Amino acid sequence: MSKQIVSAEAGVFGRLHVADCYQCGKCSAGCPVAEQMDMLPNQLVRLVQMGRFDRALKSEAIWKCVSCMTCSTRCPKSVDCAGVMDALRELAVKQGKASKKRLRTLLFQQAFLDNIRRNGRLREVELIGEFKTRAFLKDSNISLMLSGAMLAPALLKRKKFHLVGERAKDRAVVARIFEKCNRLAGASSANGRPPAASPENGQHR
Ligand code: SF4
Ligand code: SF4
Repeated sequence: MSKQIVSAEAGVFGRLHVADCYQCGKCSAGCPVAEQMDMLPNQLVRLVQMGRFDRALKSEAIWKCVSCMTCSTRCPKSVDCAGVMDALRELAVKQGKASKKRLRTLLFQQAFLDNIRRNGRLREVELIGEFKTRAFLKDSNISLMLSGAMLAPALLKRKKFHLVGERAKDRAVVARIFEKCNRLAGASSANGRPPAASPENGQHR
């Protein structure tokens, strides 16, 4: 099976045990967003096995994945299917294949992680302000800047949105977690492996 990985990216995906996939489909059967995907997780793993990155990177499915890890947990061959999704997203950004819309997803992830790093907990108003500002500076899209604003009163009423956020007491612990993730991501990059869990690159596993 490993002979079927023919691309230069083989080393990057080797750690994720892609070569061991035998297409049982358990990953796709358990994926909570499979119905919204244009290609199923097991099909994406197959494309990676065959080195068909051109096709895999065009798939909208890699952006629909919510990194719940169900696929990786269920896989009988220990293929890290969620890691494959992460690595494909990263590759799409590196190769300039991610659309403007998808770059907003990354900006949101980065704003989210910066918020957690600063506060130890999510401060929603701060997050939205930061994300919307960063996105507007990139694409100058005023309608996207204002989108969702009308939902605020209903969310506040249902206590799903909080104007005043909290901060974790021991933010030094949070800082150490981020430092450790960055160290691991640096080591992975030096080994030619994908920095799958790096806060700095916006990955959210
Ligand atoms: S569950 Fe594992 S072995 Fe089965 S198709 Fe998915 S990745 Fe392949
Ligand atoms: S990690 Fe992504 S691909 Fe895997 S089950 Fe969750 S949503 Fe589906």
